[in-house]
This record gives sequence, structure tokens and C-alpha cells, in this order.
Amino acid sequence: MLGSMMRKELLISDLITHAGKYHNDTEIVSRETSGEISTTTWGEVADASLKLASALGKLGLETGDRVATLAWNNHRHLKIWFAVSGGGMVCHTLNPRLPPEQFIFICNDAADRAIFFDKTFMPLITGTKAHLKTIEHFIFMGPRDEDVLAALPEALFFDELIETGADDYEWPQISEESPCSLCYTSGTTGNPKGVLYTSRSTMIHTLAISLPDGLCLSAQEIVLPVVPMFHANAWGIPYAAAMTGAKVVMPGPGLDGDSLLGLIDTYKVSLALGVPTIWMMLLASAKKSGSKMESLKRNVIGGSAAAPSMIATFRDDYDCETIHAWGMTETSPLGSGNQIKAKHLELDSEAMADLRAGQGRPPFGIDLRIVDDAGKPLPHDGKTEGALQVKGYWVVDTYFGKDASALTDDGWFDTGDVSTIDEDGFMVIRDRTKDIIKSGGEWISSVDLEGIAVSHPGLAMAAAIGATHPKWDERPIIVAVKAEGADPSEDEILALFDGKVAKWQIPDAVIFTDAIPLNATGKMLKNKLREQFGNTLIERGA
Ligand code: AMP
Repeated sequence: MLGSMMRKELLISDLITHAGKYHNDTEIVSRETSGEISTTTWGEVADASLKLASALGKLGLETGDRVATLAWNNHRHLKIWFAVSGGGMVCHTLNPRLPPEQFIFICNDAADRAIFFDKTFMPLITGTKAHLKTIEHFIFMGPRDEDVLAALPEALFFDELIETGADDYEWPQISEESPCSLCYTSGTTGNPKGVLYTSRSTMIHTLAISLPDGLCLSAQEIVLPVVPMFHANAWGIPYAAAMTGAKVVMPGPGLDGDSLLGLIDTYKVSLALGVPTIWMMLLASAKKSGSKMESLKRNVIGGSAAAPSMIATFRDDYDCETIHAWGMTETSPLGSGNQIKAKHLELDSEAMADLRAGQGRPPFGIDLRIVDDAGKPLPHDGKTEGALQVKGYWVVDTYFGKDASALTDDGWFDTGDVSTIDEDGFMVIRDRTKDIIKSGGEWISSVDLEGIAVSHPGLAMAAAIGATHPKWDERPIIVAVKAEGADPSEDEILALFDGKVAKWQIPDAVIFTDAIPLNATGKMLKNKLREQFGNTLIERGA
């Protein structure tokens, strides 16, 4: 042998061991379901997760068993994550916003053996329990609670269960190829599909997102993951915070603008992450209160396209740099993030704003390409649009419980998104394949139209959809929700598009509505809007 390096598996337990040892007194602030704020440390989270892993073993849970969570972002949820994945089991985060029949389907499909739940979700548990065929242990995330016992006599209690764990338990040394967590896609059509992450894929993803050109985590940051732990693992932040020793502020159920603003200002949050609807609410609260959110240096917006006007507001009014990121449950989730290169430093403000409006470039570990209908790769020229495909260390191959690989014959995952990619690798999402508007054989990006519409301060939200048209097949229309107290007219909104898009891309109508339906991860349900408003132009006599 010429020599060798240590062979050490990449394990989730190593993350929490590191955080407990080297960031022992770094705080974790957590809003409880009751609204109270509690403060703990990485040291305490490390001790508690080790003990909880032992307790779960004593309950009879074994390597590979699925343990579900139905919970907000809070300190007990964090302990469960590290206990379950570190202990060799699979942490299955459930999205409480799914319709009950999908929730039941997912629990049964995953064959979860235990479920941890926050008090908020008691009604969902008691209402669906008769259909949850595989769950043996219902564990309430709190101390003993008589209301919970009255509704669910077999309930166990987190705070009691943890005490049954052994003090001398050690993390199992499992293979890095072992599954560590499971997350289902939000399934707007058909049943959701499970993506089973391994310790290895998660650890490499964690390293990548922590880098400066990823989401740039460090021991100097105070991070607020507004994105729920049940939405693509809170984009990996709990793992990356443990790896880097960042301080974490967990928002619990308080996802409204005022609650988030309170956390940002009180705990001096420097980095926050969430979907566009969250930022809209936060900006409205900040404007109302006059807070400048001085501590907030950066925010990450993903999950749906961030409107250029929102990025500009953060930059100009709050001195906060937005990192626009793209990803999917199937990609762990980070697939790209908008971080500039040295050569872009000299760009004028307009060109810089244009560059930063897109979804950015892939980090090392992810490769992107666009293809035509026949699967033939298209040029990365920043203009040609094609179906976006991805491959990499942390991308799904086969969905949970399925036999067939989800990949193309040549090993890529088709994202269902349409995008452009430029020579520098900067990718711009133009649409979902199924949402793109096809007018007389030409494509119109609904993302572009929405970005322009919501730049009007009188609109709170806007969706662009294709409405049936006798001559052009489809024409774009905007379905919009007015901002509180505002009353913009249809003509005012339509005037915004002049000079910003080609004449034939200007929407034919603006329809005002009270609310736009969102799916369980906050994305606009365009299929529902098409059902409701798809005949608008015909009805108007087109
Ligand atoms: P999910 O797996 O539920 O997180 O959904 C993934 C999908 O969300 C992607 O395929 C995109 O269609 C969409 N998405 C995520 N991030 C962005 C973004 N920054 N801009 C536009 N669409 C996005």
C-alpha cells in the first residue's frame, strides 16, 4: 500500500456531534406552538438528540424505520431530526397543509411506524388516525398534556420519552448510503411521490449550500429559516447551521409578517429564507411599522419566482441582498443560486439587476442542461428555451417504493421546468412546462408577466395564465389580488406592460379576484385558475 487516508462515513450524527462540541453555547431561539419563545443551545440539542435516539431504540424502532414529523420549525423538531437520522432511522417530514386524503396516502405509502406532532395538528391526527395503518406510536411534542390524553389516550410525550434514553448511548456507525430522510413532492396532480435522501447525499448538499457561493452560512450568521422543515427539509438549513455553527431562530407557527419582523428585529437575524408570499407579508409589515430590518443583510427567495420588484425593494429600501435560488424536493433542494462572478462587479445597476433577477448558477455538485422535445441538448446562449434537466450528487434517481428509475435514458432528471441558461451558467426559469402560455404557436413566459404585474404597488399577488382564444388558441390574462386598501384599474395594470414585453405578449385582460389558490408549499395553483378563468376571453366576446 502506498499510504491511505482515514475512511470515515459521511453521517448526519457527525453534524450534531460537531455542533455540540464546537458550538456548544451558540443559541437556538424557538417559538413554541403556544407563542412563547424558548432559548436553547447547540450543546443541549446535541445531548437531547443523542438521548432521544436511544429512547426511540427502546421503543422498538430499528435502522431504516420511518419516523414521521408533523411539526413547525422549533427546537424539538430539530432534536427529532438529528435523533432519527443520526440514529439510523428515516426522518419523514409531513406537510400539514396537504388535503387529509393525501396526508393519509403519504403516511401509509411511507409505512411510518411513529409520528411526532405539535399541538396545532391534534385535529389532523385524531381525524385521520383510523386510516393511518402503520403508525404504532403517537408522540406529542411537549410535556404531558391532559387535553392531548383525553383526545388520544395512547399518546406518548416527547419530554417524558426522552428521559427513558440511556446516558451512555453512542451514535451507530452506519453506512453513508443509508437513507436518512424522506420528503414527498407536493403533487398538484396525482399522488405525491417520496424522495428518499441518503446520509451521503445530504452531507454533500450541506457542504455545498454552506459555501460562500451557495447560501453562505457561517458561525457569524443568525439564520431564520422561515421555509418549513417539511418543505424540502427547510432547504437544508438545519443541517448547514449545525455544520457551520450558525445561530438559528426557529419561527414556529408565527409565519405572518408581524411575527417574523418581531423575530428579525429582536434577535438581529442576518439571513432569512422563504418563499415569495412570506416576503410579501414581511415587507407589508415592515412598511407599516417603519422598521428598516437593519440586521438583515441577506435573504434567500425560492420555491417560486421572486419578482424583480421585490428583489429591488429589499436592495434599495432595506439594504438586504437577495439570493434568488431554484430547487426541487427531488434536488435536496438546491439546484442553483444567484451569486455573481468577479467579472460582474463592474456591471451597471440595470444590467446587475437583470442578472440577479434570474435563478442563478449551479453549485459544484449539480449539472444543468436544457433540451428540446426530442431530448437533444440546446445551446447555453441565454436565449434558447428548453426543458430543464439536472444531474448531481443530491438528485433523486428512483422515487420511494418505485422500481423504475425516474431518470432519462442518458441519466438526467427532467425537472418539468422550462428555462434558458447563458454562457456563464446563469439559469432563468421561464415557466413550468404545463403552465407556459402558447399564443399562436409562440411561447409567452407567465413568470415574466407576473413579475411585471406585481411591480404595481396596488397588487398583492398576480398569476398569468393562458385563456382560451378562438384565433390564437391561448392568450395571456392576469388574475390578480388587490393589495389592502388599493383599487387599481384593469387599464392601469395593462399599461405597465407597454415597452416591457413585445406587443403580442401583452395580456388581453386583468381579472381581479379575492384570493389565488396556493398549494401546500405556497405555489399558485394555475390549473385551478385555468378551470375558473380559462373562458374569460370567450365570455368577453373574443
Ligand atoms: P417543490 O419540489 O415543491 O419545491 O417544487 C419545485 C418547483 O418549484 C420547481 O420545479 C420550480 O417549478 C419551482 N421553483 C422553485 N424555485 C423556483 C424559483 N426560484 N423560481 C421559479 N420557480 C421555482
